[in-house]
Amino acid sequence: MQQQTHPTPLRPKVELPRDTLAAVRNGMRCKCPKCGTGSLYRAYLKVADTCPSCGEALHYQRTDDAAPWGVMLIVCHIVVGGVLAMEQAWAPDLWVTLAIWFPITIGLCLVLLPIVKGLFVGLQWGLRMHGFGQGPDPADPQPAPVASRPQ
Ligand SMILES: [Zn+2]
Repeated sequence: MQQQTHPTPLRPKVELPRDTLAAVRNGMRCKCPKCGTGSLYRAYLKVADTCPSCGEALHYQRTDDAAPWGVMLIVCHIVVGGVLAMEQAWAPDLWVTLAIWFPITIGLCLVLLPIVKGLFVGLQWGLRMHGFGQGPDPADPQPAPVASRPQ
């Protein structure tokens, strides 16, 4: 005689709200959006698969072209405004303009890229986008139900 087992009743998963503003702030500091202590990157712009401090899965991020777009938005306003202001005030030769503003443009882009990418990773984590809200979350009070396999 086969003994019947009763499956555990499935409970709906409760998702606690996340502090999106704190996650964005942590991301802009190039830190894990969840704990704020572990490094977000394993290389210059390579996001770590998991946080080295809390173990949060970070590989779900899909920032794609958002970070370069954001950097271009910021840098173009600074550089174009600066070049135009310099032309109005001083009107230097073209080589002087390029010698000043080309390194500033490259430097601003290199400095801002990890910050803006961290902003978008933090935003995605805070809004549970792209898989950041899937799977068991240690912060949730109820563990995800375990589905029993039919025999
Ligand atoms: Zn962390």
